Amino acid sequence: MNTPIARRVTRQVHVGTVRLGGDAPIVIQAMTNTDTADAEATATQVESLARAGAELVRITVNSHEAAAQVANIRERLDRRMIDVPLVGDFHFNGHRLLATYPECAQALAKYRINPGNVGKGARRDEQFCQMIEVACRYNKPVRIGVNWGSLDPDLLARMMDANAVLPAPLAADAVMREALVVSALDNAQRAIEVGLPTDHIVLSAKVSYVQDLIAVYRNLAARCDFPLHLGLTEAGMGSKGIVASTAALAVLLQEGIGDTLRISLTPDPGGERAKEVQVAQQILQTMGLRAFTPQVVACPGCGRTTSVFFQTLAQRIEGFLREQTPHWRASYPGVEQMQVAVMGCVVNGPGESQLADIGISLPGAGEHPSAPVYMDGKRVMTLKGQTIAEDFIRLLDAYVAARYGHQPEAQLTLSALIDGDPAQVQCLTLP
Ligand code: SF4
Repeated sequence: MNTPIARRVTRQVHVGTVRLGGDAPIVIQAMTNTDTADAEATATQVESLARAGAELVRITVNSHEAAAQVANIRERLDRRMIDVPLVGDFHFNGHRLLATYPECAQALAKYRINPGNVGKGARRDEQFCQMIEVACRYNKPVRIGVNWGSLDPDLLARMMDANAVLPAPLAADAVMREALVVSALDNAQRAIEVGLPTDHIVLSAKVSYVQDLIAVYRNLAARCDFPLHLGLTEAGMGSKGIVASTAALAVLLQEGIGDTLRISLTPDPGGERAKEVQVAQQILQTMGLRAFTPQVVACPGCGRTTSVFFQTLAQRIEGFLREQTPHWRASYPGVEQMQVAVMGCVVNGPGESQLADIGISLPGAGEHPSAPVYMDGKRVMTLKGQTIAEDFIRLLDAYVAARYGHQPEAQLTLSALIDGDPAQVQCLTLP
């Protein structure tokens, strides 16, 4: 059971059909790594990210060829009934691309602008304002996303100089952290002066070290009420990237900070891009902030485990749940909150299984070769033999239909499966 987390109070921003901040759930974003000029490849990757659960997908708009294809990508997605809003990522030439390709400006649901990458010197302010004017014209929200690696050098130099003459100067990295926050807030103020409504602004200040990210976002959160986009930039590959992102974001989310997030994982060569979406979902679900997929509670196994059988079963069940969830969600509301326990022996098995919605406790070494099954806290039957995995998956499927589909015929199927004994099912507290 997770204790509810009080979220920071923010304005609400509408990104197409998606609400960000305010009382909206924390939104999961992802980003493509295809060449946006290749409309088919990009639309296909956006589709796969959206099907995996991304609620906003960002695409880079870095060239004339890319900008010229954005509306085409949007049309391809619409034809496939994929309504995920697209966010355009702009850098040095964004002001020109947005002015030259009005259909691109219109097709995007939000623009991401990095004030450190919009131009140099006097051109910087002018080009930033030109992009904000386009956002105002098309009524689009903007994420002002500052980044450690591209912090406005003029601002940083000014702040370093001012710090140097203080009686007790701050360390250089503290000045850099403050400069990130000041850059985000000053540019938000500049956008408001140009005419962008305050409920069209989202801020981010990404860095690549966990402690810096936490410090920067705490500071930013205390100094404004704009929704915040969280993400550890360049988190890295594999478990390092997952752990670093989770460590940083969990602290902030626990403090109620963060309205949307993206996990910046570097995929393995040929690896699945949608992994970043799964990690984001897992972070939010394990913290009790949102529910996406039924969860498997599996013990880690130990010397009492006779074989890898229970790990294989846990893995099979997880795969089955992942496959079924999109279909189940449409017919069985609330199924994403379900807990399934797969335990390796009688030490903790029965207890954990009783706490889950449905659970199985497999035999450990030296235990009687039978696997008791629990539903809604009660032992309903015992599986034996070579087909325990298949039998349990069949039971799980029938349990979902009966519990979340409220179908009388599903209850009959379930009772037929429970040792063919309809009396057994009477003890279930199916709502
Ligand atoms: S439930 Fe049993 S097999 Fe699993 S870790 Fe605990 S003692 Fe080991």
